[in-house]
Amino acid sequence: MVRTRFAPSPTGELHLGGLRTALYAFLHARRHGGVFGIRIEDTDQKRFVKGSADRVMAQLRSVGLTWNEGPDVGGSFGPYVQSERRDRYAQAAQKLLDEGRAYRCDCSPERLQELRTGQQKSGKPTGYDGHCRTLARLDENAVVRFRVPEEGSVRCDDLLRGEIVVATATLDDFVIMKSDGLPTYHLAHVVDDHAMETSDVIRGEEWIPSLPKHVLLFQAFGWEIPTYAHLPLLMGANSKKLSKRDGDADVKSFLTWCLPEALINFVALLGWNPSGDREEYTLDELITSFDLARVNKAPAVVNTEKLEWFNHQAIMRKTPQELVEIVAPGFDLAAEDIERFTRAVAVEQPRLRRLDTFPTWWRDPYLQEAPLAWKKSTLVVAKERLSGLSALFEALDSWPNSPEQLEVVVRAWMTEQTFATGDTLWPFRVALSGKKASPGPFELAWVFGKKETLRRIAYAIKHNT
Ligand code: GLU
Repeated sequence: MVRTRFAPSPTGELHLGGLRTALYAFLHARRHGGVFGIRIEDTDQKRFVKGSADRVMAQLRSVGLTWNEGPDVGGSFGPYVQSERRDRYAQAAQKLLDEGRAYRCDCSPERLQELRTGQQKSGKPTGYDGHCRTLARLDENAVVRFRVPEEGSVRCDDLLRGEIVVATATLDDFVIMKSDGLPTYHLAHVVDDHAMETSDVIRGEEWIPSLPKHVLLFQAFGWEIPTYAHLPLLMGANSKKLSKRDGDADVKSFLTWCLPEALINFVALLGWNPSGDREEYTLDELITSFDLARVNKAPAVVNTEKLEWFNHQAIMRKTPQELVEIVAPGFDLAAEDIERFTRAVAVEQPRLRRLDTFPTWWRDPYLQEAPLAWKKSTLVVAKERLSGLSALFEALDSWPNSPEQLEVVVRAWMTEQTFATGDTLWPFRVALSGKKASPGPFELAWVFGKKETLRRIAYAIKHNT
């Protein structure tokens, strides 16, 4: 039975790397008909941020992930919050103490700092020197350290990297219980992943150096070691490590401009290469195609232009009406704006890459930024053409109900008058949008309707002198 979990520490917002870890654990479990759970790892009181766990879970839900077990949905391996599982860690630590596999250490922070400084000065690796190893410490507040075997090596397996062998002499006696009575991550995750019957631990590459410690703990308890898969680092476009503190790497910031399905598709491909050239996947398609063993070891580069491309594809799959509902909350729309806005959305849809840059030409009070006259043509000609268009539109019995129909009418008139395209359509478009770049004049006129089109043309004629 495949059982995976996402184990966030509630220390801030969900970032892109966290989302990828959660997604891969979710996909791996779903692909194999297994169980995906959430466990909140809140044993680091100093870094605890109130509300963070709830926000992380809300964001996972908002991109379509669901879990079978977790603090909010329960499950038979709960509680799913580590601060509610203290007894289990204390018992586990006591077992190791009783067996002589761990010992209490009351070295002061000052002594540890001195030790570290000395090691750094003499160019030695830093780490605990085993000072309390042979002393009998009964102080219940003293930290508990794991007694790393002095000789031999630890063999670890990583699904993506294969075998990693580390000499135990390179590991120091690491802390498993802190003086506040809470476990370190090392102990807590081993105890929990054993108790929760986790089959695959999928987590970030930053944990690889700690893997031998975890394997030693599993062996000391006599427990079966789960499969470990350490996901590659995420890098920014400038090849710098993406940082948790980097606002851009927050899922919340991404969701201000991109659709959840686009983000999921993008994140799924950060490190995982499906066979073949296919790039577009829905969540359901990812479930049937995802293969943890095909995840790369090399760092994955977060290229936001690529995310914009995915977002554009996702936008194109929406009906204009669905898109209106997504974009409208960003505007304070009056009832009379809705119709025009809906037509503007239909016109912009093929151009849209981000949801936070939806243009405002459809509503802005008239503001002309581009010159009215086309290149070598003159303002006089531009105004003549606009007056001609105005007369043409006034004479229409009914307003064309598509940009294409409007184009047929205008082009027929231009042919009849032998008017060149640039001379006529440039001022027509600038009169309507005021911009150097905007949708074409037929689309704009269709969005505005007859009355507003005539009003903007009249305004342009009057205000360009
Ligand atoms: N709480 C750990 C972290 O946030 C989880 C690592 C794991 O999945 O075991 O990095």
